[in-house]
Amino acid sequence: MIRVHKHSIIPASLQVEGCSNYDGQDVQEQLVVDQHEKCYLCEQITGKDFQIEHLKPKAEDHHPELKYTWTNLFLSCPFCNGRKPNSSKILDPSQHDIENLINQKIDFSNRKIEFTGDTAQIEIKDTIKLLDKLMNGKKGIRDIKAQLLYKDIEREISFFLSLLINFSDDPCDVNRNAIMDSLNIKKEFLGLKYNLLKENVALADEFSEYILWSKTA
Ligand SMILES: [Zn+2]
Repeated sequence: MIRVHKHSIIPASLQVEGCSNYDGQDVQEQLVVDQHEKCYLCEQITGKDFQIEHLKPKAEDHHPELKYTWTNLFLSCPFCNGRKPNSSKILDPSQHDIENLINQKIDFSNRKIEFTGDTAQIEIKDTIKLLDKLMNGKKGIRDIKAQLLYKDIEREISFFLSLLINFSDDPCDVNRNAIMDSLNIKKEFLGLKYNLLKENVALADEFSEYILWSKTA
């Protein structure tokens, strides 16, 4: 999970008096553009299988007043949307550099993704709890869909690690370009890649300009 930069202009369909539709074509289009066709929680490319997710739940006993509020709407995949509980008070990724607040690290040998941060803050604690549930399964046991997600993450991060090793062995343009490409905002699982880079000062310096998506606009 990383920062999301949302367009500041509210889509017209949400500005209609008595608006009763939060997923108008203009809303969908803007979210697809702003989030580069990726789910804001798991960072998978959603393609056409996206849903409009309410950061703060729209349920009557939660935040029905935010049902049609632009800042509360995010693009999500069905997997994450269906597993996010209404009780979750997660960080707003349009307001926080998530990748700096939550360390996201894959533990290949234990096939687990570790999320750490200042859990004294309720929003960080709840975000970590949700990400852990999505990527490591309920009480650490993944169902089939969660297993498939983990495999995708494992494959992409293993590939990214191999690119870092190639570059460390031979810092030529071809190897540099391969890393730049993998750090592009349109690519998946950037929160995990970002944390891998941060662990290595030389690499973090070398590629700092390619992780500008981590900076507040
Ligand atoms: Zn997702």
